[in-house]
Amino acid sequence: ERVEFIGFFNHIIDRFEMNKDEKMTFERNLDTRNMYVWMDKDKITQVLDNVISNAIKYSPEGGTVRFDVHSTRKQLVVSVSDEGIGMPPDTVDKIFDRFYRVDKSRAREMGGTGLGLAIAREMIEAHHGKIWARSKEGKGTTVYFTLPLMSQKRRGQS
Ligand code: ATP
Ligand code: MG
Repeated sequence: ERVEFIGFFNHIIDRFEMNKDEKMTFERNLDTRNMYVWMDKDKITQVLDNVISNAIKYSPEGGTVRFDVHSTRKQLVVSVSDEGIGMPPDTVDKIFDRFYRVDKSRAREMGGTGLGLAIAREMIEAHHGKIWARSKEGKGTTVYFTLPLMSQKRRGQS
């Protein structure tokens, strides 16, 4: 279905903001223009739920989670950044593999299955987008994904 992405994303962030620890800061840097994406709302909600929960789960107390959206002519680039534990450079691509978890003992404490990002990758690729991450140990992690924008011609026919 056709979805205005900025409103949709704000709504999801609001839901996490209502439940977050009061010491944690959320920062939004979202384009203010309306941006339309043809997508399965439930599936992209599932992607964002996992990426945002990871950012929160691996953040230190009092950390900042930042949300960014910017657009090029053809696509949106969405990112979620944290100031958490990060991960070693050689593992940053593996986190999108099924059941992969950076530190087994730590991950077990944290709960979860290690499937979240593998499912996210499947869903983003089904939408003809890409998903990747950048991370620095001890500094934080950013997860990025793209989604194709609907052509502008479809709008403003009134
Ligand atoms: P699930 O999502 O199924 O509850 P999970 O969160 O462990 O479990 P994924 O979301 O697939 O699984 O993430 C895979 C692994 O990548 C995590 O176990 C963790 O080691 C690492 N990871 C993911 N996001 C971050 C992050 N923001 N900071 C640090 N490590 C991360
Ligand atoms: Mg997860």
